Amino acid sequence: MVSIFSGLIELQRHDTAVAQLHHRRSHLPEHEALMALAVEVGSLERQTAPTRASRASLQVKMEALESSVHDLDVKIEAVQSMMFSGTVTSPRELQGMEADIVSVKKRRSELEDNELELIDQAEPLDAIITAADTKLVEAANERDRLDRAVLAAQTEIDVVASGHIVQRADLVRTLDAPTVALYEATRSKNRGVGAVLIEHGTCMSCKIKIAAIELDRIRQLPVDTLVRCEECSVILVR
Ligand SMILES: [Zn+2]
Repeated sequence: MVSIFSGLIELQRHDTAVAQLHHRRSHLPEHEALMALAVEVGSLERQTAPTRASRASLQVKMEALESSVHDLDVKIEAVQSMMFSGTVTSPRELQGMEADIVSVKKRRSELEDNELELIDQAEPLDAIITAADTKLVEAANERDRLDRAVLAAQTEIDVVASGHIVQRADLVRTLDAPTVALYEATRSKNRGVGAVLIEHGTCMSCKIKIAAIELDRIRQLPVDTLVRCEECSVILVR
């Protein structure tokens, strides 16, 4: 027996499908993976921040040393060109310049030793930073992959949902407007369920068995009579 309410079951089928698709869209496993990845990246960045800071301060010291070494080179060069220019002829003065070069070279060598020490200190830090950077690049690639997967899944869901929405709109045009309005009002108060079939004498919304006597009464009603579940108020369709 087909009642005027059976169209509501079809409407409900589309609405349930759209609701399930919405739920799936906002609970994609990739979303969870992306959140876990963000947590992982955040903790890795926090862990390596002190190492990066130490490495940066070593870099500043190394550059300062390099600049001092360069200044000494310039000085050595200047003294040497003065010595070989022939303008200084006094042996005492030349000797003084020689001694000057020796002392500057000694200072230069000390600075270079300091620089080597800093390079030694930087090595283990560089190893930690390189390993962290490798992991961060991998994480960025994984995030891109997940972003693409989310987009693909959402696009696929949207296509299916749009199909239901179009079919639903076509269906609504064929249904009695007050009946659809009642369905909508019921659905909004009943967790998205507006109309269900009675199956095995049970309301398929609240799953409560309808008393045999009530079921008999319902069965004898004209097909266009509105029947609602006494428990959950859903529209019952026979
Ligand atoms: Zn019910």
